[in-house]
Amino acid sequence: MTRMMKKLVMDELHRPTFCRECEGIMVYKGIGEYQCEDCGEFAYDDYGKVRNYLEKHRGANVAEISDATDVSHKSIRDMIKEKRFEVIDNRGGYLRCEKCGVNINTGRYCRECEIEYHRQVEAEARLKRTSSLGGGKAGGTKGDEGSKRFTRER
Ligand SMILES: [Zn+2]
Ligand SMILES: [Zn+2]
Repeated sequence: MTRMMKKLVMDELHRPTFCRECEGIMVYKGIGEYQCEDCGEFAYDDYGKVRNYLEKHRGANVAEISDATDVSHKSIRDMIKEKRFEVIDNRGGYLRCEKCGVNINTGRYCRECEIEYHRQVEAEARLKRTSSLGGGKAGGTKGDEGSKRFTRER
């Protein structure tokens, strides 16, 4: 089976980069879920929203999903077409990570490649934020806080 190379890049999923509560960096936790590294607020990208909804409402149609999640019909159809939800269809065989080619059963990248991608976005977001704040974060960061954040990852 030939899978079309769609260019639904991750940015089109409306990734929450900054926290809407405190403008902290949203750190990727997995399957479309993000958590603010400053205040702990959770947020979801389009994929995460749709996936959450489908977990509770199996068999929901595109219109229902869209109403409930605010994600456009087109994005939902694209995600379904790409078999990004194992809850919808896991019988089409395995997917492969688009970056390293290992077998995966949902999404587009294996967990490692996905995490790597998100870490890059987060690093860029940090840079952007620091430069837009001019003087950097008030109070300064306590040295080892950064490394603790990463080990908390499941
Ligand atoms: Zn926050
Ligand atoms: Zn991979």
